Amino acid sequence: MPVNEIYEVVIVGGGPAGLTAGLYCKRAALKTVLFEKGMPGGQIAISKEVENYPGMEGITGFDLAEKLVHHTQSFGLDIIRQEVTAVNAGPDLHSVRLAGGDLLYTSALILAAGGILRKLGIPGEAEYLGTGVSYCATCDGFFFRNKTVVVVGGGDTAVEEAIYLSKLAKKVYIVHRKNTLRAGNLLQSRLMADPGIEIIWNTVITEIRGDGKTVSAVFFENAETGEKGELPVDGIFILIGHSPNNQLIPPEVRTDEQGFVITDEKCATNVPGIFAVGDLRRKFANQIVVAAADGCIAALAAAHYVEARKGGG
Ligand code: NDP
Repeated sequence: MPVNEIYEVVIVGGGPAGLTAGLYCKRAALKTVLFEKGMPGGQIAISKEVENYPGMEGITGFDLAEKLVHHTQSFGLDIIRQEVTAVNAGPDLHSVRLAGGDLLYTSALILAAGGILRKLGIPGEAEYLGTGVSYCATCDGFFFRNKTVVVVGGGDTAVEEAIYLSKLAKKVYIVHRKNTLRAGNLLQSRLMADPGIEIIWNTVITEIRGDGKTVSAVFFENAETGEKGELPVDGIFILIGHSPNNQLIPPEVRTDEQGFVITDEKCATNVPGIFAVGDLRRKFANQIVVAAADGCIAALAAAHYVEARKGGG
């Protein structure tokens, strides 16, 4: 257990961004440790299929996550399954507090905690979680075989998961708050060609109702006309993206109005020695390949930072 030690780099989070950072830090011979409270691999581990990671045609998210973990460990990265409870920016070294109370010190810190699933925040959402409300079709779709479900969202995840669900469910509705989808064109054309899916445009879900045990309907409102309605469904999949998992971000680190960390082209924050990568950082595209690239950039920049400190620079 690497407690009370001084590291050159501590990485917080074991998704594609953090793992790639770890790989590059080890290749740069930096004394590095990565902390991950769950399974290393991050959000991709629950993706049914990853179609756009270059060189990995048609791989499942789980297999890609396993390959990433295996690859980093082949370079000897220390991956510790423990929760980080606090991160403090220091004038010299930065510190990382672990769930058990131990404190570590580090020259450079790479924050890679990813995102948190967005919630609708409507009545019934929390009450029926696991009994009709789900945030992962790949995980829970099986329970809705031959049933009627509604998917909320208009991004790649919502469209991909709706197509997945249409192979299992009797009927799939997609409810989207706008009249255009954010999802990529290829997924959109697959969606339009799927006879099992009906799109309800310009609509927001306002309430989830049930019999106290399982979901039986959702209530909706047209965002333009205000017209209200009820849709009888057995389940609702809320797939509306992520917000940044930024609880650990020290107050000195600059974030935007949505809480994403602001970085420069080296993934460096405004605090020397603190870097942010992946879904935590404000950027144009949240893709696995971008997260991995962030990890590479931050690790190379961290190596430079550590060497400069050693040299008194
Ligand atoms: P996105 O942020 O891309 O999309 C979220 C969707 O949910 C948007 O359509 C948004 O609507 C809608 N939304 C957000 N908040 C609410 C709300 N409160 N109520 C109703 N609707 C809401 O998230 P995704 O998870 O779809 O994708 C995340 C990233 O992962 C993206 O970069 C995506 O490209 C990538 N990805 C790629 C895949 C692939 O290429 N195979 C598969 C899955 C994800 P609006 O458009 O109005 O803002």
